[in-house]
Amino acid sequence: MSSRITIEKIEELAKRRGFFWQSSEIYGGFGGFYDYGHLGFLLKSKFENAWRKFFLSLDDMFYEISPAVIMPEQVFQASGHLKSFQDPLCKCKKCGNIERADHIIENALKESFEGKTPKELTELIRKHNIRCPKCGGEFGEVGELNMMFPLNIGADSETKAYLRPETAQGAYVNFKRMFEILRKKLPLGLAIIGKAYRNEISPRQLLIRTREFSQAELQIFFDPEKINEHPRWEDVADYQLRLTTAKDRKKIIEMTCEDVNKKIGLPKFYVYYMAKIQQFYFNVMKIPKELFRFKELSEEEKAFYNKYHWDIELNLASLGGFKEIAGIHYRTDHDLSGHQNLSKEKMSVSIDGKKIIPHVIELSFGVDRNIYALLELAYSEERDQIILKFPRNLSPVDVAIFPLVKKDGMPEKAREVQNMLKQNFVVFYDESGSIGRRYAREDERGTAFAVTIDSQTMQDDTVTLRDRDTTVQIRVPVKELSKTINKLMHYEIDFRKAGKVVYEP
Ligand code: AMP
Repeated sequence: MSSRITIEKIEELAKRRGFFWQSSEIYGGFGGFYDYGHLGFLLKSKFENAWRKFFLSLDDMFYEISPAVIMPEQVFQASGHLKSFQDPLCKCKKCGNIERADHIIENALKESFEGKTPKELTELIRKHNIRCPKCGGEFGEVGELNMMFPLNIGADSETKAYLRPETAQGAYVNFKRMFEILRKKLPLGLAIIGKAYRNEISPRQLLIRTREFSQAELQIFFDPEKINEHPRWEDVADYQLRLTTAKDRKKIIEMTCEDVNKKIGLPKFYVYYMAKIQQFYFNVMKIPKELFRFKELSEEEKAFYNKYHWDIELNLASLGGFKEIAGIHYRTDHDLSGHQNLSKEKMSVSIDGKKIIPHVIELSFGVDRNIYALLELAYSEERDQIILKFPRNLSPVDVAIFPLVKKDGMPEKAREVQNMLKQNFVVFYDESGSIGRRYAREDERGTAFAVTIDSQTMQDDTVTLRDRDTTVQIRVPVKELSKTINKLMHYEIDFRKAGKVVYEP
């Protein structure tokens, strides 16, 4: 097996083991839509729960809500999406093939052209004689496509609506009510984890660019006068961030939060959350430092609603380099003011004796892109097979339980252990095939631990516990198993110190 990671390898494993595949497969597949199987669903739930636990615990005033996915046209008129949420497209004059104009130029010239106007893109296509990849024909003028999916609601189909293109608007339309229910305090954080829909011109790279995807977003509403402070600033002031600025895309620099505030001029309230995002990637997702960076977007690349816009990128070898998986956005009062103007509902609140429209910092994560990244980074080829070395806390299945043989009371004892562990962990029971085959299967599914019940278990009530990444096995008393696995999952103790080592490869 070649050890180079590719999209094809990830796709093959994802389909064979039950992570994900193209939707409506039996009808030939539906472009831009993916279905998750049981392991993919478990991995996605683990990611979402880890995200919840980390970001919601940053502040007592951060809460999760669950607004509707379909929203009326006015919402997107007020937010600016109707007018400005466009992608550039170009159509081949010969075969009619439609491509995203900036991507086709990027493929040809190996440089990003996001944010250029249709006119500039047309000029680039002409200047570099970029041709249709399907038939070699000439492209027409670059046009624009609104990326939202329109819907007509009700029996008379008269009400115009859209599938939400981001979860964020659900937080803005509910801000005023939530602010009042939550005792009128700022900052207030409203998190939403759920589906978003975009009519992407060319969906590609499996889960990376799809038409239906999940987002985990946190909108933090705050007093704009306090943008250059954060009550816990001292916790992060000396923490180093890894950054690439818009001025110098070639370099990644490391700079303390204090310096990012002083030298780059980003406000403390914004930088504090950059630090927290980086800590999430390093400490929870266990991303190697060198694969992570924040990338500043230039004036023309920034989303239309953002004053500051930095992407979070991971270097993913199967995709040929750094890829956006999340973003941190200073959206100012763009959305709340837009909704106030159109709905005539007051969005201003009284804080410290003054009336203000809160400003918003948005943390926006693409769940599916993070799932793809987890799979790629876990993927390894060792011991003549594939092993998915997920961080233990994010592994789809926590523990596999095997009776060594199907007799002498071992299956019954294994069921007993399964019932006990089921209370706290995702467990999987398997009694078919040789023990070696069973270990190998679980390694390929990324199961963090395997527990084996053998003849010794029947005598002294201990089991072997095997670590997926090293194959080391230790002996642990059944009554201590839950506690031990729990500590190991959170990397609180070293595996070899958690019991008596009985196997070293
Ligand atoms: P945006 O609102 O464009 O800043 O997107 C926020 C996050 O959603 C991005 O960082 C991506 O992780 C994710 N995302 C955006 N578009 C797509 C897509 N077409 N497919 C999958 N994920 C996406």
